[in-house]
Amino acid sequence: MDESQRKKAEEWFNAHIAPTCPSCQKSAPLQIVDRLVMPPLMRGNSVDFGSTLPSVALVCTNCAHVRFFSALLMGILSAANPEPNSEPKLG
Ligand SMILES: [Zn+2]
Repeated sequence: MDESQRKKAEEWFNAHIAPTCPSCQKSAPLQIVDRLVMPPLMRGNSVDFGSTLPSVALVCTNCAHVRFFSALLMGILSAANPEPNSEPKLG
């Protein structure tokens, strides 16, 4: 994630999520993982490695709970210009 993407992610999190962790209920600092992650999507009972959901990962520094947020819906990436090797589908 480049600096402008990171800044956009920080602004999005500040505007859209509660400052407390849903697992431990603490207000410990939340850490944005430096890289976008691409969880593979399932198609039926099989993993479709050709399709991914570009995501921003957020980690609670108290309990290590990891949450994923859609980089497309956050505006970090556009559907017309996703990261290589991804076929984002939000349906
Ligand atoms: Zn936590």
